[in-house]
Amino acid sequence: DHKATVIDGKAVAHTIRSEVADEVRQLSQKYGKVPGLAVVIVGHRKDSQSYVSMKRKACAEVGIKSFDINLPEQVSEAELIGKVHELNANPDVHGILVQLPLPKHVNEEKVLGEISLEKDVDGFHPLNIGKLAMKGREPLFLPCTPKGCLELLSRSGISIKGKKAVVVGRSNIVGLPVSLLLLKEDATVTIVHSRTKEPEKIIREADIVIAAAGQANMIQGSWIKSGAAVIDVGTNAVDDRTEKSGYRLVGDVDFKEASKVAGWITPVPGGVGPMTVAMLLKNTVDGAKRVIEQ
Ligand code: NDP
Repeated sequence: DHKATVIDGKAVAHTIRSEVADEVRQLSQKYGKVPGLAVVIVGHRKDSQSYVSMKRKACAEVGIKSFDINLPEQVSEAELIGKVHELNANPDVHGILVQLPLPKHVNEEKVLGEISLEKDVDGFHPLNIGKLAMKGREPLFLPCTPKGCLELLSRSGISIKGKKAVVVGRSNIVGLPVSLLLLKEDATVTIVHSRTKEPEKIIREADIVIAAAGQANMIQGSWIKSGAAVIDVGTNAVDDRTEKSGYRLVGDVDFKEASKVAGWITPVPGGVGPMTVAMLLKNTVDGAKRVIEQ
């Protein structure tokens, strides 16, 4: 029976975090400076709170100083932008992250566009995305989840150049940037989205599948080409009465069936998830290095 190599995202993320911790130590020994990440959160969404606390904890572990900015749900757009400007001007802050989603009365596009390009560690500034899309241009930062997907491929020894890659999903935070990144790495890229007809036919051609549709177990084992590398970004909660919480997390790919055909596959949880935070730390230390070593 064939069994795909399971890519252990937790272990890879752990390695990256210790690499980042080394870089932080070196910066502090050489220049007496510590990288700083500002995390801005508006309101009290439970999921956002838990993501933010995870990011703060991860910063503390590698020696990055985190600046916590908690703003009330009713904060005005002008006040929020004022805060972003203040952080842009603060030399101890090397990265600024605004946790999404923002409340409806705030224009997300406007706020993200105010973050200094040099501190855009989420890589969501339209200029960073624009450079990612253009030949011969290099963005200052790559979005964390897409960068994490590519890091999992490269650290598993999977080459991208000349391969057929299919990305399922085209969101601003995952699908689109991961497609652009694969293209930059010389893959031939096809994007499948909710209006795509017969997605299975397209996915079956792929040497590399990146699944980011947010649809539990949508991609069946029979849709995967033998030996393909499957990176499952999807994180979907499905009801499960045998779990204490009443639910469990599954990916966009039917892991059990796909494992019988794929060459490599990432589990959910424990695949891409841990990589996102590791890449945020990496982006922050890279941003700090650019400024401090100047
Ligand atoms: P969005 O809902 O913003 O985007 C989903 C994309 O998938 C859309 O482009 C949509 O197409 C497409 N899509 C939806 N249904 C189908 C379908 N049946 N067939 C083909 N395409 C489909 O989600 P995100 O990009 O924000 O997130 C995607 C998944 O990744 C989610 O499960 C999310 O939880 C997870 N995620 C995980 C992260 C991690 O760190 N591991 C980080 C970020 C997200 P259309 O554009 O036509 O609507």
